[in-house]
Amino acid sequence: MSDHSSSCDIAIIGGGVIGVATALELARRGRSVTLLERDRVGYGCSFGNCGWLTPSLARPLASPGQARKALPWLLDPESPFYIKPRLSPSLASWLLGFVLAGRSPERFRRGVAALVELSNWTVDAWEDLALRSPIHFGYARHGLLAVFESQKSLDAGVKLARLSEPMGVPFEVFTPEQVRQHEPIVTGPQVGAIHYPRDAHCEPEKAVFALADEARRAGVTILEGAEVLSADLDADSVRTLRTTRGLLRPRQVVLAVGAWSGSLGRAFRLRIPMLGAKGYAILMPHGPIRPRGSILLAERKIGINPHDHVLRLAGTLELVGEDLSVNLRRVQAIAKGAAGMLEMADPSEHVQVWRGLRPCTPDGMPMIGRAGGYQNLWVSTGHQMTGLKTGPGSGLLLAQLMCGEKPTFDPAPFRAERYARRI
Ligand SMILES: Cc1cc2nc3c(=O)[nH]c(=O)nc-3n(C[C@H](O)[C@H](O)[C@H](O)COP(=O)(O)OP(=O)(O)OC[C@H]3O[C@@H](n4cnc5c(N)ncnc54)[C@H](O)[C@@H]3O)c2cc1C
Repeated sequence: MSDHSSSCDIAIIGGGVIGVATALELARRGRSVTLLERDRVGYGCSFGNCGWLTPSLARPLASPGQARKALPWLLDPESPFYIKPRLSPSLASWLLGFVLAGRSPERFRRGVAALVELSNWTVDAWEDLALRSPIHFGYARHGLLAVFESQKSLDAGVKLARLSEPMGVPFEVFTPEQVRQHEPIVTGPQVGAIHYPRDAHCEPEKAVFALADEARRAGVTILEGAEVLSADLDADSVRTLRTTRGLLRPRQVVLAVGAWSGSLGRAFRLRIPMLGAKGYAILMPHGPIRPRGSILLAERKIGINPHDHVLRLAGTLELVGEDLSVNLRRVQAIAKGAAGMLEMADPSEHVQVWRGLRPCTPDGMPMIGRAGGYQNLWVSTGHQMTGLKTGPGSGLLLAQLMCGEKPTFDPAPFRAERYARRI
């Protein structure tokens, strides 16, 4: 693209795992695709997340009882779930939607079923990519061990695990002794664990680079440093995108900008209730004992992912919108929380800190489909804690919808129009 306008078949806005996966699936169907990323591909929330490919944890954010459990945490700046107190009508309306969505166990069950299906397909897709990609992204299916410190939480975890089990997510319950044998790094007090043997993990940023490499080979044009600033609209369609790299006249547009969907959505006259939920990851050297697979410290909500050369610790969920500032107190709370349970290196030795914004809708389900009131505007966003584990499946679903194919997954639970409607 130059300083004069150019046309293309499909423009995808946003180069995170969701935009890249969608671009790849569209290119595989012979479509000419230009992906516009304002920064560099894969450097948004998809960069430093925990790297878990865990259908066992593919669940809507809003779940029955979640709001009640989270309330005592809300004002504690070191808790795993935090909202900075502020007067904001959009935050209040988001929270109301979240509380209401979490009240229906049936709705939650449907959400779990839809996300597990998408996630199972996605993990297989990552495994295929790992076999053929020249970019090594540390894919391994070594399972996930969710460790519990209280019997009540373990019982609740087993109840949740039973929900996903019939969808191909097997699990076994470990006694404290089995936990110590399976993962000797776990030395803190615990009452047992749930082991999910089929879960996988990878290095997230390299996984997205591998996907982007595959997309380029399939013919996708990736433009970095191309920020979409505004759009010219007709009655029912997007006509032109105005970007920092010129004008683009695509026949179809996909909005895949994660936590920025609310602000950029306004350029398309959409009022998407998207909230960024900030989380942190710490990369630190391995200690004397290496975990064999992923570990979740269930009550502390800390995820541990063992890479070849470093240990990744990730956690906290702070509803902040688009604020990317780093709160060191919360970073230290993750390190301290992990050190209380694991035999690991001195957490003050950490080498890297990363933060990202999980894109969260009030009902905690992704939005994948056509935007209401538009012929040619599509949306794929709101993947909250599941973007990596459902990204390629989400790309497949949207590409199938856009190309008029029978979708592999039921699109109803992901209907974008429930929030994305032209005003
Ligand atoms: C601490 C943490 C741990 C996590 N762990 C996991 C995990 O283990 N497994 C898992 O599945 N998920 C995990 N997640 C969630 C996962 O990271 C997200 O769901 C996923 O990255 C969202 O992808 P995305 O493509 O929608 O957004 P992003 O990766 O944020 O991509 C959006 C892109 O849009 C670009 N953009 C924005 N505005 C514009 C514009 N105007 N023009 C052009 N480009 C624009 C941005 O620069 C960005 O690159 C975690 C998240 C966090 C924070």
